Amino acid sequence: MTYKRKLGFEVPPLSQKDIANKSLNLRKSLDEHAILSFSEKRVEMARVLERMEHHELITMQIVPNSILSGVEADCRGTHIRISESVYDNAVTGCPRSQFTLAHELGHAALHCSVEPVSFGFNRNTSHAIYRDSEWQADSFASCFIVPFTLLGKDTTAARIQSEFGLSMTASILRMKMYKLERQRAI
Ligand SMILES: [Zn+2]
Repeated sequence: MTYKRKLGFEVPPLSQKDIANKSLNLRKSLDEHAILSFSEKRVEMARVLERMEHHELITMQIVPNSILSGVEADCRGTHIRISESVYDNAVTGCPRSQFTLAHELGHAALHCSVEPVSFGFNRNTSHAIYRDSEWQADSFASCFIVPFTLLGKDTTAARIQSEFGLSMTASILRMKMYKLERQRAI
C-alpha cells in the first residue's frame, strides 16, 4: 500500500491483521453496549464517540480550531480533542472528518497505554511502518468504518465509498487492504 502520511511516533509493532482484529473486537464490544450495531454500514463517528463518552469508555472535548496548533484532532490516553470545524463536518457526514474521528479512536484503542504523548503531531523519525502510530491509527480507522466481515466478493472501491461513506482515496486503500485480507482468509 502506498502510504503518504508523514511518520508519527514509534510504538510497539502491530500487523494489519492485528489491527483489523482489534477494530472488530471494539465494534463487537460497542454492539454489546448498544452504541453501534455491528452490521451498521454508515457509521456516524461523532455519535459513536459521544455514546462512548456517555459509557465512560473515552472522554472527548470539542475545542476551538486555534487550540490544536494546526492539527484537526489529537488523543492522549483515552482523551480525544477535536477541533470545532472537524466535529461539525463529521456530524454532517463529511468522509474526511469521519475518518479523522475514527483515526483518533484508533489512537485511544491502540496506544492509550503506550506512552504519555499526544498523537496528532507528526515527527520525522525513521522506523518501520508497522511500528508507526499514524499508520496504525489510519489502518484502525479504515477497518473500524469498513469491517472485513461486512464486505463481499463483489466489493469495489466505488461500492465502499457509496455504502460506507469513505472518501474515494480511503476507499481505494481499503479495497487494497481487503484483497490482502481475502487472500489470508482463503
Ligand atoms: Zn494520529
